[in-house]
Amino acid sequence: MATQAPGATYEVTEIFTSIQGEGMRIGMPSTFVRLSRCNLACAFCDTTYSWKAGEMVEPTVMTPEQILAEVHAPDVVLTGGEPMLQQLSPLLELLEGSFVTVETNGTMFRPDPRVGLWSVSPKLGSSGQKPNKRVLREYVAQVSDRLQLKFVVGGREDVSAVKDLLGELPGATAVPIVLQPVGIPGESRDAYCEKLARLIETEILPDPFWEAYALRVLPQFHKLLWGETRGI
Ligand code: SF4
Repeated sequence: MATQAPGATYEVTEIFTSIQGEGMRIGMPSTFVRLSRCNLACAFCDTTYSWKAGEMVEPTVMTPEQILAEVHAPDVVLTGGEPMLQQLSPLLELLEGSFVTVETNGTMFRPDPRVGLWSVSPKLGSSGQKPNKRVLREYVAQVSDRLQLKFVVGGREDVSAVKDLLGELPGATAVPIVLQPVGIPGESRDAYCEKLARLIETEILPDPFWEAYALRVLPQFHKLLWGETRGI
């Protein structure tokens, strides 16, 4: 029987079961555990209700057992906000029967063998933030077999910034790289798909740089299906 640190609790914004809409495990039925608070404030953040003063949903304080009781899919995604702001170890211990993805902004590194996939999303210029290269090098050096680097790109400058960053991360050619166009609130599905096609046609296919990388260009699948509806 798994045990956890006595008294461990989590501040939780929401828990829901849907499909993974992003990255290497796209389409997998998954329970999302959105932990509250963030250490960044990205311009394009689509989950400000998990951290931003004035918009933040009052967190529910939950024990690991209470969270486990809400898990209804084989994949569990610990997301945020920034989930690494909370000590994940007691929760990971209870979730050992699940495939766990941690979605993080790549500013903190605390490796844990119970995490099946580190989905690290370094922030680029259009977010108003800078990637933490020291931390990213640690991810690539230590957990490259369970890592994806997922970049939300706002335009040509961001793609160029991704290329510069990858060039400074030794070993990144062995890591799955995901490029995902940023979504704009109120944007239609057609407009989003057009942006995706333009990105592929102008920035990826003609550029030999990407031949060295395990690149996928993907949409946010859940947004194509359900738009900005929360909790699905
Ligand atoms: S790191 Fe993620 S949750 Fe935090 S502000 Fe940026 S986009 Fe939002």
